[in-house]
Amino acid sequence: MLPADLIRQVEKIAGLENVFTDEANRLCYATDSSLLSQINNWVPDLVVRVTNTEQVSNILKLANQHRVPVIPRGAGTGQCCGAVACRGGIVMDLSSMNRILNLDLENLQVVVQPGIVHADLNKALAAHGFFFPPDPGSTKMCTLGGMVVFNSSGQRSVKYGTTKQYILGLEVVLPSGEVIVTGGARSRALKSVAGYDLTSLFTGSEGTLGIVTRIRLKVLPIPEKRGLVVAFFDKLEASGQAVIQVFRRRLLPSAIEIMDRTAMKAATMYKPELELPPAEAMLLFEVDGSPAEVAYQAQNIAAICQQFANQVEWTDDPKRLIELWTARSVVGAAAGRVKPGATRVYIGEDICVPVIRVPEALRRIQELSEQYNIPIVTYGHIGDGNLHAAPVINTYDSAEIEKVKQLGDAVHRMALEMEGTTTGEHGVGLTRAGYMEEELGPALQVMRQIKRLLDPLNILNPGKMALDEN
Ligand SMILES: Cc1cc2nc3c(=O)[nH]c(=O)nc-3n(C[C@H](O)[C@H](O)[C@H](O)COP(=O)(O)OP(=O)(O)OC[C@H]3O[C@@H](n4cnc5c(N)ncnc54)[C@H](O)[C@@H]3O)c2cc1C
Repeated sequence: MLPADLIRQVEKIAGLENVFTDEANRLCYATDSSLLSQINNWVPDLVVRVTNTEQVSNILKLANQHRVPVIPRGAGTGQCCGAVACRGGIVMDLSSMNRILNLDLENLQVVVQPGIVHADLNKALAAHGFFFPPDPGSTKMCTLGGMVVFNSSGQRSVKYGTTKQYILGLEVVLPSGEVIVTGGARSRALKSVAGYDLTSLFTGSEGTLGIVTRIRLKVLPIPEKRGLVVAFFDKLEASGQAVIQVFRRRLLPSAIEIMDRTAMKAATMYKPELELPPAEAMLLFEVDGSPAEVAYQAQNIAAICQQFANQVEWTDDPKRLIELWTARSVVGAAAGRVKPGATRVYIGEDICVPVIRVPEALRRIQELSEQYNIPIVTYGHIGDGNLHAAPVINTYDSAEIEKVKQLGDAVHRMALEMEGTTTGEHGVGLTRAGYMEEELGPALQVMRQIKRLLDPLNILNPGKMALDEN
């Protein structure tokens, strides 16, 4: 329960219509996409919808006075319990701050508010022939603010990198309420080495160091053409070899995606018309550039795949491209089909291992699936080693919940043992906090010192990223 006086002051700052204390509204903010949030009951004490930087600043000043946690939130699509009030307090909804403030395309940049949805931004940019390359699967839901603080990425990261490569500067409200601008107070430059790289510090900070209220982003011209190579492999290991050979031949696809046999089964159950052939793995290589470059890359990749695969097709026809991408596009939604009445859950869903070890990781995930008797649909970005393992369980069965927690732990530990990471793109939050001592070593202590410096009262998103332990 928050003091009545504090609630009144928040109402004064944000307006009565933007403050929610009733249970029904607060319940809507109790979860993100993670299993952990869905099996707990972390309902915030209050939700406030903010519309400008001044409100954010004033609310943080108040929270400091009252020592009340504040949890920033975009769309709540995160998968690691990042936007959830695990210690109560105020959830601050930034999704209404969703405007494009400046399209400065001659200088290859735009300035946006944090609540803008990724697909909306790219739609607006496409009208001018530009795009913001990072491409999360949640494009139609997630906000740029969430993407910045999770350093999100997607299929195109193998060629275009992750969100942090495109962040030129940020307006950030510090836990004290002070407002700063990183990347140069008035800069419109595309690069700068002036001072510590605070933009990078806040990018990936998971809402623990400051609240992002404005983002200056680099954008690129949309490539003229796209092409796709699809290949089906009898052996998992052969798919890994094909990827290695593509890089050895100095080819650089814009995406390299893999689906294992269970993922192919799920996609086929969801859309039988896909008619996928029986195989251990399916690879999709997307290439982009000028028409000649696309044809050159696609033909060479197809030729390499012929050596390892039993079926290969390439196309640069836009209609066929969409058809061939369909299996990969639907697999997330289709995963639940492999076990009738069950649901796909997000736990251990984001490991990243060295590219050369992806087939081994896929094989070991299949063994864990058998060991725990839980179907796992695995797909992901083999081009950078990032795998999305999707366990499918009956979420009403407490024994299955316990089993899947153990399975998620085994997947995380496997990633660390394989010289990988527990999270390639979805973040630490609460879900992966328990692995940070092992994964980060003494660097975690430095992160804790930075947190204490910027947020001495630990009011901003407390409990996340293993920052406030010790
Ligand atoms: C179906 C599906 C597919 C997905 N695919 C991908 C994918 O391909 N790649 C990928 O990287 N992720 C993916 N995700 C995860 C998720 O969509 C991303 O992490 C996304 O960037 C989160 O954005 P959000 O607006 O939902 O953030 P939220 O979940 O609301 O918040 C995420 C974190 O950011 C903090 N936060 C939010 N806004 C701010 C702000 N303005 N200032 C400071 N902190 C803030 C929150 O406190 C929290 O810690 C997927 C999720 C789903 C459900």
